[in-house]
Amino acid sequence: MNAIERAKRLLCGRATFALVNGKRERVYYESGIQPLLNLSDKDRELLKGAAVADKIVGKAAACLMAAGGAAEVYAGVMSRGAMKVFDKCGIKYTFDTETEIISDRTGTGACPMEQTVRYIDDPAKAEEAIRRTQHILKLRAQGGKEMKKLGFGMMRLPLKSGDQKDVDLEQVKKMVDEFLARGFEYFDTAWMYHEHTSELVARECLVKRYPREVFRLATKLPAFSLNSAEEMQSTFDRQCEKCGVDYFDYYLIHNINEDNYINKVQKFDAFGFVKKLKEQGKIRHYGFSFHDTADVLDRVLSDHPDAEFVQLQINYLDWDSERVQSGKCWEVARRHGKPIIIMEPVKGGTLANVPPQAEALFKAKEPGMSVPSWAIRFAAGLDGVFMVLSGMSTEAQLEDNTSFMSDFKPLDEGELETVKKVASIIKGTGAIACTACRYCTENCPMDIAIPDYFAAYNGDILDGGKNAAKHRAEYEAFAEGHGTASACVRCGACEEHCPQHLHIRDLLEKVAAKFE
Ligand code: SF4
Ligand code: SF4
Repeated sequence: MNAIERAKRLLCGRATFALVNGKRERVYYESGIQPLLNLSDKDRELLKGAAVADKIVGKAAACLMAAGGAAEVYAGVMSRGAMKVFDKCGIKYTFDTETEIISDRTGTGACPMEQTVRYIDDPAKAEEAIRRTQHILKLRAQGGKEMKKLGFGMMRLPLKSGDQKDVDLEQVKKMVDEFLARGFEYFDTAWMYHEHTSELVARECLVKRYPREVFRLATKLPAFSLNSAEEMQSTFDRQCEKCGVDYFDYYLIHNINEDNYINKVQKFDAFGFVKKLKEQGKIRHYGFSFHDTADVLDRVLSDHPDAEFVQLQINYLDWDSERVQSGKCWEVARRHGKPIIIMEPVKGGTLANVPPQAEALFKAKEPGMSVPSWAIRFAAGLDGVFMVLSGMSTEAQLEDNTSFMSDFKPLDEGELETVKKVASIIKGTGAIACTACRYCTENCPMDIAIPDYFAAYNGDILDGGKNAAKHRAEYEAFAEGHGTASACVRCGACEEHCPQHLHIRDLLEKVAAKFE
């Protein structure tokens, strides 16, 4: 009897997997691809040149067999994806039944490992991906159902050039892998982030590489830019296509303020639309992101008590601000009993780069903690907050954020006092309260790099002028490909879109005076 016939004979009773390699024979009883993973871990040599018999072989199992060097395969059930792998790798195979997909344990969707490898053809790369997914599934099983409170904001992704569309996909993939491997799961994108490419990045770097069940994806209906009620459906359909998903976990009506609440959200019945999406199973939860006063928030929540959550811009610097009203908005959301997602906890990076005397206060209190950690912990510690978004641009930022949010501890009384002192130091510097959301840049006729100029200006102010040459060089580098600050024609198009209600025209004059 040849090796594959011997392996088939061993595959009886409760056995799920059998292997014959020369005189050596093994029988395994674990489900799924576990026997193959165990073999690859502990006895990889045994798989090389072996004849294997398996009850079910999908593409994931086929990749592991190919990566381990199996010579011949028999399966009770084999997927067409698995056959393609064997054909490509020159591995002989036979089967009893052919199938299109291998289902998960509930029989309602594709097996998570099959989802993981659906776009991968190289068996070695498939094995790496399978191990990443296996690690995440293990973490989920150990960690229960509660989500960690840090979300990956996909609005400040790493770039390969100065072009917002030129996202460094390989870098983002690494960051996504690390974020998930550390037990986090929430990703936040939007129609217009990165000049309409962020949703595509989410598909390439996350959705195509992981099973749907290991991450939660949020995106937003750009109600403020709609021209008709019909556009809501076509926009949603396009978002599903761009992200490569058939449902979103969280769907937000984006950037509600008084003006677009009346002229777009109410006029087109955006709440009715998202409610219908939920009834159709196309979204799991709906809410809205908000940029206006506490009174307007009160009105929106009173009109729409069905909203399941609200996303607010809250940070320690704007807590008492009459313009942003972080504290007052938080109180309104709590009064209405709404769970809160916080955006801009670090105020677009402003609270990562505080003046030296403020940084000294933080370091004296907690020498090991980074400056941004204070801002994120402040936000995450507020009652009713279930998620804090951080727009991470580098692996170092991701490593830092996830380090203190893995086992999150809110700020204690003494730490909150320190934060108050730091806020008052920053307020005294006159830094521009820009969060780098970039909503202002799209309609600027002079293509002025508004947030980048404000960042250079703030950098100079917060450094106390110590690195003036560096910040001037930053300004000049951006000005090379864009209109200069003094090129502003004061049309005001940018100010209509600024959620911080900044007087951009006047501020650009200050920037020009400093750098030009
Ligand atoms: S006011 Fe100036 S910066 Fe704003 S959109 Fe017009 S030209 Fe651009
Ligand atoms: S100026 Fe306003 S709209 Fe523009 S990036 Fe800054 S906060 Fe956003």
